[in-house]
Amino acid sequence: MRKTDAQNRPKQTTTVAMVAEPRPWSDASLALMPVQTCELDLDELARHCTQLGLTGDCIDRRQHRYSTGSRFLEQINFLGCSPNIRFDSEQADEKFTHIILHRYPTPRLFSGRYTRAPHCPECGKAEKNWRLDDFSHKRTINCSHCKHTVDTDRYNWRRTAGFTGMMIEITEIFPKEALPQPTLLENLQQRTAMEWDYFYF
Ligand SMILES: [Zn+2]
Repeated sequence: MRKTDAQNRPKQTTTVAMVAEPRPWSDASLALMPVQTCELDLDELARHCTQLGLTGDCIDRRQHRYSTGSRFLEQINFLGCSPNIRFDSEQADEKFTHIILHRYPTPRLFSGRYTRAPHCPECGKAEKNWRLDDFSHKRTINCSHCKHTVDTDRYNWRRTAGFTGMMIEITEIFPKEALPQPTLLENLQQRTAMEWDYFYF
């Protein structure tokens, strides 16, 4: 399969406030995350992903990396008529679509080059002069519009970032290039007794 044409991908959001952590394994990812704080461990999550056919072979056990599974394309809906996605690499340093499971002791903000301004949960307005660092490290933010003091983890990133301690990362998928099928989110919910959502970062 050919590599995805970079010209079809969304323009990078440029803002001086944006300092995304470099991720050498992916230019952009689709991430599935539980909506609530989650007690699940990574082995359990890995088992569910395998049983759903989302993940296939383990690529790196220490980093919890997996190739895409036999039912991956039934569960992730690629938009557009011919997605040119690579599912393996011909060279060692080549990026390709695979799955990484993440678990952190405390939730943190995951953002990337396409992250946009977060919206205040009280007034719904976008924070104009936002700094990623503030949202990553402060517990609360004073909304510049409605002046409410708001917990940073309540801000709405409109799926351009996510605040979570657990995540199924699907690499090399750009915003709106692919969507998780509702049945995948429902299956994860049934298996983990938690609601799941998604974002791009
Ligand atoms: Zn507000």
